[in-house]
Amino acid sequence: MLNVGKIENGIVLDHIHAGRGMSIYHHMELSKMECPVAIIKNARSNAMGKKDIVKIETDADSINLDVIAFIDPDITVNIIKDGELIEKKRVPLPKEIKNVIKCNNPRCITTIEQGIQHMFYLADSRRKIYRCEYCDEKYTEQESDW
Ligand SMILES: [Zn+2]
Repeated sequence: MLNVGKIENGIVLDHIHAGRGMSIYHHMELSKMECPVAIIKNARSNAMGKKDIVKIETDADSINLDVIAFIDPDITVNIIKDGELIEKKRVPLPKEIKNVIKCNNPRCITTIEQGIQHMFYLADSRRKIYRCEYCDEKYTEQESDW
């Protein structure tokens, strides 16, 4: 497999559904980070056929894993410290997501007014349904979000 160099300290997000690597990049706001970030698209995977991988070289504690689980709960998070893999885990769906997605209801206060936090709560974990904290509108994935 393509190797974009080992990282000494940071996280490797593995088993991302092919095509969602850029979505991770976008929602985690990695463009704003100063640290090295590598996105590998369409890596070969025995289990998945194709997958994306994201490597972020930074303090693992500073990364918001809730966002990762929301975008793709099947992602494996590998935490690397001093060049060693110290933890490998899946992240459960967050109970709440803040400022990651936006409400689609045109009458929602978050659509009308500026500067309000976009908050969603997990309404149904089995079906992965999130609702707006303010108007209860169900969040549905938009093509443009991915
Ligand atoms: Zn709303």
